Amino acid sequence: METFEQLNRHALLELIEKLPYPDFKHAVQLFAQMEKLDFHQELNLITTFHFQSRMEKLGINNTCPSCGSSHHTIHAIRNEIKRYRCKDCSKTYTLFSGTVIEKTKWHWDIWVRFLELTIHGHSLNDIQSILESEFGCNNINHKTVFLWRHKLIYVLAQMSKIRLSNYVYMDGITIRESQKGSRSLINYKNLKLERKPRTGRLSIKKEATDVAFTTIATAVDSTGHCICNVIGMGKNKPEDIFNALKHYLEDDGHTPLEFSSKKIEEPQNTKTVPCEKAILTLDYFKELNVSGMSSSDMSLKLHADIQKFICQDMANVSTKYLEDYLGFFTYMRNWRIDHGRCPFSRKDIESIFIEIIKSRINYSKKRSFASL
Ligand SMILES: [Zn+2]
Repeated sequence: METFEQLNRHALLELIEKLPYPDFKHAVQLFAQMEKLDFHQELNLITTFHFQSRMEKLGINNTCPSCGSSHHTIHAIRNEIKRYRCKDCSKTYTLFSGTVIEKTKWHWDIWVRFLELTIHGHSLNDIQSILESEFGCNNINHKTVFLWRHKLIYVLAQMSKIRLSNYVYMDGITIRESQKGSRSLINYKNLKLERKPRTGRLSIKKEATDVAFTTIATAVDSTGHCICNVIGMGKNKPEDIFNALKHYLEDDGHTPLEFSSKKIEEPQNTKTVPCEKAILTLDYFKELNVSGMSSSDMSLKLHADIQKFICQDMANVSTKYLEDYLGFFTYMRNWRIDHGRCPFSRKDIESIFIEIIKSRINYSKKRSFASL
């Protein structure tokens, strides 16, 4: 290994691949001290450059995000980030443009580990302390971890919107509206009235008059792939379910339809467990097997899985986040169907991370709750 006198940026770039992250960081620190440079700036610079060369090698995002053209010239290089100019539409872009990671310059390995911990369902505290012990990230607080986990879940949820083919079975389920984590409660049954916190189990009569329900439209095709969409409050008609899902049909000409509707009962109402429980458990993936099932059985299984995921694993999800968590669940479930195994190896997680960057989906705060 080089002595520290020989350290320069080029050598550091080689070290980033060879050394464990904390050791690499230490080398950057020595280099910055020696050259009287700002450590954090230097670390960002080398990390970003390394991230960019990984993307170049993998051929990720080397086309124009606006028009898809692959003809470009290098427009400028600023802080080691190459900015391209598209020869067809003359817009400029970088390999990071429009992706969820655009503004945050973390090391590739930190991202992959973060995604892994999110998918494995680690708590926020766990994620924070693992990042600290493995990568020395002591500047990442609880709030940052919460936000980033949510951003990744959001992007995966967007990526879950696939096209279904062959025979598609559509159905709807309703689950109780939840405002977990909110300070002021809204009465969705009557906006003018107060919505009281619910405790314990309600009588059937009280539940029918007091509780608002959210409807989730679900569709499963003959390969076992599914789509789940939150379509709004209250009971929805079969036509509403069909209209909400018809865009996801590969061939919307002749899909036979069957409708039924069930109401899901929560095992217990408003548990005050913090939202830090397992997101998806390994057992879930092990057990998931839809081969040889009839479409209606697959649909029933999907409904049972949603119920378990939302009401038990997550200890109830706030309705405002329901769409994201449901989409995340759908993405992971379809991934399992495609690959026939759990996404638990580093290679699997990395491939999902690459898909996330390739999708160029960014987190948007603009949410549509108009229907709720
Ligand atoms: Zn272009």
